[in-house]
Amino acid sequence: MTNKNSYKVKNKMFTKILIANRGEIACRIIKTAKKMGILTVAVYSDADAESLHVHMADEAVYLGPSPSRESYLLVDKVIEAAKITGAQAIHPGYGFLSENAEFCKQCSQENITFIGPPVGAIEAMGSKSAAKNIMEKANVPLVPGYHGDEQSEDILKKSADEMGYPVLLKATAGGGGKGMRQVWKESEFSEGLAAAKREAKSSFGDDRMLVEKYLTQPRHVEIQVFCDNHNNAVYLFERDCSVQRRHQKVIEEAPAFSMSEALRAQMGESAIKSAQAIGYQGAGTVEFLLDVDGSFYFMEMNTRLQVEHPVTEMITGQDLVEWQLRVAAGEYLPKTQDELVLNGHAFEARIYAEDPSNDFLPATGTLEFLQTPIESKHVRIDTGVRQGDEVSVFYDPMIAKLIVWDENREKALQRMAKALSEYRINGVTTNIDFLYNLATCKPFVEADIDTGFIEKNNDLIFHTGSQTLANELPMAALYLVLSQAKNAEQNAEKTNDPYSPWNNTNAWRLNEPHTHQLVLAHNDIEYSVVVEQKRQGNGSYYLITVNGQNFDCKNHDCQGSIDGEVLKVSIDGYRSQATIAHFNNNISLYCNRNGQNGVFKFTHVLPDCGDSSTDNNHGGLIAPMNGTMVSVLVNTGDKVEKDQALVIMEAMKMEHTIRAPEKGTIEAIFFTEGEMVDGGAELLSFVAEEG
Ligand code: ADP
Repeated sequence: MTNKNSYKVKNKMFTKILIANRGEIACRIIKTAKKMGILTVAVYSDADAESLHVHMADEAVYLGPSPSRESYLLVDKVIEAAKITGAQAIHPGYGFLSENAEFCKQCSQENITFIGPPVGAIEAMGSKSAAKNIMEKANVPLVPGYHGDEQSEDILKKSADEMGYPVLLKATAGGGGKGMRQVWKESEFSEGLAAAKREAKSSFGDDRMLVEKYLTQPRHVEIQVFCDNHNNAVYLFERDCSVQRRHQKVIEEAPAFSMSEALRAQMGESAIKSAQAIGYQGAGTVEFLLDVDGSFYFMEMNTRLQVEHPVTEMITGQDLVEWQLRVAAGEYLPKTQDELVLNGHAFEARIYAEDPSNDFLPATGTLEFLQTPIESKHVRIDTGVRQGDEVSVFYDPMIAKLIVWDENREKALQRMAKALSEYRINGVTTNIDFLYNLATCKPFVEADIDTGFIEKNNDLIFHTGSQTLANELPMAALYLVLSQAKNAEQNAEKTNDPYSPWNNTNAWRLNEPHTHQLVLAHNDIEYSVVVEQKRQGNGSYYLITVNGQNFDCKNHDCQGSIDGEVLKVSIDGYRSQATIAHFNNNISLYCNRNGQNGVFKFTHVLPDCGDSSTDNNHGGLIAPMNGTMVSVLVNTGDKVEKDQALVIMEAMKMEHTIRAPEKGTIEAIFFTEGEMVDGGAELLSFVAEEG
């Protein structure tokens, strides 16, 4: 490595940059620019006129209507915005124009610095087989397989037979998991190839295939690399991103668990080789599959800053956006490999507006209530929204990234569980409870993780297994009684006669035990719960009966056991605690103890209150996001049943099924297969059956 001193290159740092992005990443970049004394220009669409990134920037330029094709993806408009504001460089963030070679080219034609790699590097990583050829020449390990030009079925099959099954067929033009098929045995090869080719043809207009050995329990381990234009390159260790739903990352961590120093160095050096093979500059990520035997294979290189970069920042103490700006301005890398130290462990959880129990369908709405955990050196929140903001159909529904750090994995994971239990959002369906269940489930805690983690542990994460609720029902009931008592006490303090028995809510009856009758619903099943309050010495204890089953439930402490949001209880001699979130009539118990981890949701069913506001707002017949129409499953005039699948849309690498909200008739269908759909567009007209 060339000897460096970043301060030797003087007066080259930008004074103003434009951020061609929105949301959390735009805010994230603005923060670093501010710290460095660089002015920032935001760009925005109609939907984002009042959004946080616009408020944080020094200047902002309007691009156009809300759909990103009419605003954030308009190369000319973005460049024009930089020119009129005098921004010397553009940071593309991730997504949008960040890996668009044409945009990168036009920036340089206009003498604007693209804060990213040279155009050649973006182009080199565009095709899977071309990228593999480059990596093969650079001696970077590839998954055993065939990625040649010869495409006859015989040749492809021969390579599969030789390497042994299972194999994975991949479209060379592929992306987003499209045109990919596992083939488990020789007799299924022909059929699998035909299906993969069909999908590749319709998705990319190109049905060329490559064949790879299919690894059955791989981990996704990626290396953060950085190169400057003085021939220096370093790796900033690895991230494990194996926890994925349909190839999309959910929780990432750094460093990867059970990683030896030797393997780390080997993967790091391979990643640097990959980057150097394409003349890389700036921040990049080399993604590898790591097999159970410690072999690792190049998968792809992302030529931009990754969503999950904060976990690397937490364990290295470096600001990667600052590194990007310095490198783009021509400075040397701020640190040499030897100077980089790995410290502690970090996790990132992606908080999305989506419904995990409905196939992760993106959700929209207003963030009516938003309360985040308190930020500290252990807890970081990267977000682009505030309370009252709208999560619209137009963009990625990520609300925030919650990042935690501590000195080891176990402690960091405890911080993650606590922070998730303190993250409160109302008004929009989110994946917070799903994340909490995932982060606290035993296999995750024990790092028994590969890319099939969510499918494998589905029952555990979604609590679909039989649960006794033996502790949780009494806890929820006790919480209600205690919180009512607490409220009554607080109200009483405001009256003229705080000691009047009429202020009590303790179900006091002359000569009778104090009894509360409650109905609590869990997973749509109602339980009637009787809470009998009994005196004992100076305090009281509660006898709780659930549908006839007896639970002897004593207060943890005679003063009452709600401490802030934490409920402390002792049930049948077993002491435990849970963080409670209580909105309207919904009570969530965040439990984190061995055996029964996760969040348990109850609804307090009130007599004669009518419908207890179940959230049926799953997007209905309006496109819940920008995407492509994959399949139309009904015809005009069809009579359909409630929940019948009507159309399938694809967005964000995932397919989403839109179902009939009720029994009814299809009056008209507005999109055909293959068409692009803007979020919010009416997909079909549907008339519900009367009555
Ligand atoms: P795409 O570009 O379509 O997203 P990738 O090649 O990046 O496809 O692979 C996506 C995901 O598929 C990986 O993160 C991994 O989980 C899985 N995968 C890819 N190749 C293999 C393989 N050879 N064996 C097992 N799983 C694989």
